Amino acid sequence: MQSRDPLESLNQQQREAATHGTGESAGDTRPLLVIAGAGSGKTNTLAHRVANLIRHGADPQRMMLLTFSRRAAQEMERRVGGVLQQALGLQGTQSLPNLPWSGTFHSIGARLLREYAPRIGLEENFTIHDRGDSEDLMGLVRHEIGFSETKKRFPLKGTCLGIYSRVLNTRDPLSLVLQNTYPWCTQWEDELKKLFGAYVEAKQQQNVLDYDDLLAFWADMMAEPALAEEVGARFDHLLVDEYQDTNKLQAEIILGMKPTGQGVTVVGDDAQSIYSFRGATVRNILDFPRQFTQEARIVTLERNYRSTQPILEASNAVIAQARERHAKDLYTDKVSSQKAQLVLVPDEAQQARWVADQVLRQREAGAVLKSQSVLFRASHHSAALELELARRNIPFVKFGGLKFLEASHIKDLLAVLRFAQNPRSRMAGFRVAQLVPGVGAATATRLLDAMGEASDPHVALQGFEPPAQAKEDWAPLASLFAKLNDAELAWPADMELAKAWYQPHLERLHEDAQVRKLDLDQLARLAAGYGSRERFLTELTLDPPEVTSDQSGPPLRDEDYLILSTIHSAKGQEWKAVHVLNCVDGCIPSDMATGTTEELEEERRLLYVAMTRAKEQLHLLVPQRFYISQQASGGDKHVYAGRTRFISEAMLAAFEQVCWPDAPSLSAASAQPQAPVLQVRSRARSMWK
Ligand code: ATP
Ligand code: MG
Repeated sequence: MQSRDPLESLNQQQREAATHGTGESAGDTRPLLVIAGAGSGKTNTLAHRVANLIRHGADPQRMMLLTFSRRAAQEMERRVGGVLQQALGLQGTQSLPNLPWSGTFHSIGARLLREYAPRIGLEENFTIHDRGDSEDLMGLVRHEIGFSETKKRFPLKGTCLGIYSRVLNTRDPLSLVLQNTYPWCTQWEDELKKLFGAYVEAKQQQNVLDYDDLLAFWADMMAEPALAEEVGARFDHLLVDEYQDTNKLQAEIILGMKPTGQGVTVVGDDAQSIYSFRGATVRNILDFPRQFTQEARIVTLERNYRSTQPILEASNAVIAQARERHAKDLYTDKVSSQKAQLVLVPDEAQQARWVADQVLRQREAGAVLKSQSVLFRASHHSAALELELARRNIPFVKFGGLKFLEASHIKDLLAVLRFAQNPRSRMAGFRVAQLVPGVGAATATRLLDAMGEASDPHVALQGFEPPAQAKEDWAPLASLFAKLNDAELAWPADMELAKAWYQPHLERLHEDAQVRKLDLDQLARLAAGYGSRERFLTELTLDPPEVTSDQSGPPLRDEDYLILSTIHSAKGQEWKAVHVLNCVDGCIPSDMATGTTEELEEERRLLYVAMTRAKEQLHLLVPQRFYISQQASGGDKHVYAGRTRFISEAMLAAFEQVCWPDAPSLSAASAQPQAPVLQVRSRARSMWK
């Protein structure tokens, strides 16, 4: 393979961003902000920048590359590798650079916190709680301090965790968060303070961190000048993709590590900010230019390389209505006569049929399944489609779902490994102990109390006396933990031991044990890909595997499959053909988020993100009858929905309208907004004391 300068493939602005601080601009140490619209090559430019820095002698070990998901990090490494190969004329996997510090803020945070644990008052073998575990723990604490009985109408555990999380991530005081986002909970401010104090204490006692702690402790660590300097000095470059979806803690982390801004590159698009419900703030990108001791260099990109002209036109029309945004004029050279389609179908079942037909038709025309995707607002919106795809044997992989890890047999096996890793995790211990027949909540609590009080919890476990009726089945459990605690044991042997111990329980507890065993085998295969038990548990919690059509884990690499994804999880990606489900009022915008202007604006950006994933074909589906779960009115029901309000009459010219099978013409939005109910997530210890 001939070597070629990869920078030649970039346009002028992209090249300026990729080479900033090297070559002609060597000596320019300003931080860099690339702000540009969808499909303008921000991620591509970032990959070129990394490769270019490496070619100018930067050490890949000293680069921190922060992406939105693990998948995005892997994709970025692949792209950097590709660029370097091209530059150096290499083939295959010859000398590909290893970027050990690439990943999500959460996974890099977890690594740093384990390393610095002893210096910041943490224990290095901490367990990470996912959203579900955190909610359960919040529920448990809520129960223990007696709020579930004595305080009628006290917010549910999910809401409590939401409030807690928002306080952490926005750094706003509790009273302000309640006022702005949870106005119906303001009367509970004192109780919530008490609850959060107890929740933080429980986490500390059990040596667990939740997702938000990974950022909060990292940010706290960076607020200590000596530590911040030490950590910051380990990295010459910090590069962040999708910066519009970072929150205040993440901005503090970057600033703490690099106060001068030297070596910092962020790229993003304010028009694609879709995570403010989790505390992300578009202010980060707007404030970036002036937050360091040096003012940032700003590069904007104007040419879209992803979509055809008609698709770009339709998406631009949607975002042009947004109230606040950096004006960005995007143009493309990709001409096409095929407009974006608005497809009117009678209901969700017919919608599923239309999409399946269309996907197959496009496959026949040469578009492999992998080049197509179906996007939707919320994970459960794909249910009808999943059935239809299964019926027609169309393989698919679903992103943004957590079902695999939610299955009880998977949770059981993981609890065994978590408990072995961190014997102070009450959540894990409680689950494991009760798998033994004859052991109930009371015995489990007695065990955990004994382990909590003991100087060595492992000794307490071995010496524990179960009730007489459980003795026989308890012995294998005690012997399993003795083996799992053996320092000589090499991963993934732990997994095999745990699986073998669990097998008889699986058979006893589940009629479909045979099928479930396949899932456990799948989990064991996944486990083999990680270097250690701790690494496996951390990564699995931070980035759970996707759900597949046969429910038994990711398909083989070379299989062809259709991608099903929530819009949130589809960020940064692109497909030849994109189908967006349920483009109706009540769904986009969601009937749960139509309260304030900010929420509505975020819903508009969500539709924009969905539309801008398409390269050649875009189909927005509008089912006329739409099934809405309406807790407020007591039950689920069908409503006659209208086309999303984000596509006005005036914008229809940008679309081709299709009615299927032969439905009447499109009606404009009719559904009225409902009261807002938002879901958010969970920070450090001292603030609740
Ligand atoms: P998003 O806002 O959705 O994250 P983005 O700005 O990160 O989009 P990329 O994903 O980097 O855009 O690029 C979009 C598409 O355009 C990709 O297929 C990429 O390979 C292609 N592309 C980017 N720059 C160029 C270029 N200079 N020449 C040809 N193709 C390009
Ligand atoms: Mg991108």
